[in-house]
Amino acid sequence: METMKIGIVGCAGRMGRMLLGAVQAAEGCDIAGGTEAPGAAAVGRDIGELIGLGPLGLAVGDDPLELFAAADAVIDFTVPAATVAHAELAAQARVAHVIGTTGLDAAQEKAVERAALHTAVVKAANMSLGVNLLLALVERVAATLGDDYDIEILEMHHRHKVDAPSGTALALGGAAAAGRGVALDAVAQKVRDGVTGERKRGDIGFATLRGGDVAGEHAVIFAGEGERLELAHKASSREVFARGAVRAALWTRGREPGLYSMRDVLGLA
Ligand code: NAD
Repeated sequence: METMKIGIVGCAGRMGRMLLGAVQAAEGCDIAGGTEAPGAAAVGRDIGELIGLGPLGLAVGDDPLELFAAADAVIDFTVPAATVAHAELAAQARVAHVIGTTGLDAAQEKAVERAALHTAVVKAANMSLGVNLLLALVERVAATLGDDYDIEILEMHHRHKVDAPSGTALALGGAAAAGRGVALDAVAQKVRDGVTGERKRGDIGFATLRGGDVAGEHAVIFAGEGERLELAHKASSREVFARGAVRAALWTRGREPGLYSMRDVLGLA
């Protein structure tokens, strides 16, 4: 099979650098190139040097159009506005788009859905195998226990994270809500402050912790009368997300247009 050419937008970011390394290490693919935001310090630098390898002869660009023209798939862990612009380019170029960016608002989610009419898009708030298994478990436990058990979702991330609750925490909330047959928006309590009154039966609560260099920790707590069930996942390195994203990019080869999840990629759907 021909080697797949994978581009990385936002390639100098925390995840971008991990992704460059993961593409370089994986079988069956090569780095097609990488971009950064116009004006970013990394623009023009050699991509190999950016990740501590020797020079690869590929400079960090700032024109995503060029990258989409050169790639079979593009992996995107950037910011919501950039991801929407990239989704439009992916749709035009019919290039597969793997999206790890979190914090998209409803209009931005819709724009990604529109792009997925024209190309294969894999979008997941968390690309690790463990979290995707956890999503399936949470849905099943929520369906089994019913709302005698209060569901609370706790997450902790490094101090640089800009959105809260994390995309993964919201996805876990979505899985719990799906298990109960309700919409998350109708039952989510994302913030509590002051005199909140008693907890409402059926609510799904969130608590957000930020600090240090934590790669990502999530726990889903089912608290009943006299017992508590906790399902948890801890990522000790961002590499798990990068490896999952590369696996998703390779999986898009020959795939029909559509919006896919990591559960599709891993065969858990
Ligand atoms: P980061 O700030 O370190 O990296 C983002 C990079 O995108 C930066 O280098 C920034 O300059 C670049 N960027 C911004 N606009 C751009 C543009 N128009 N073109 C090209 N590059 C642009 O952040 P991070 O920690 O790497 O996280 C990035 C995103 O990925 C966040 O939304 C985070 O929540 C998400 N994330 C998802 C997963 C997952 O498994 N899905 C895992 C970790 C992080």
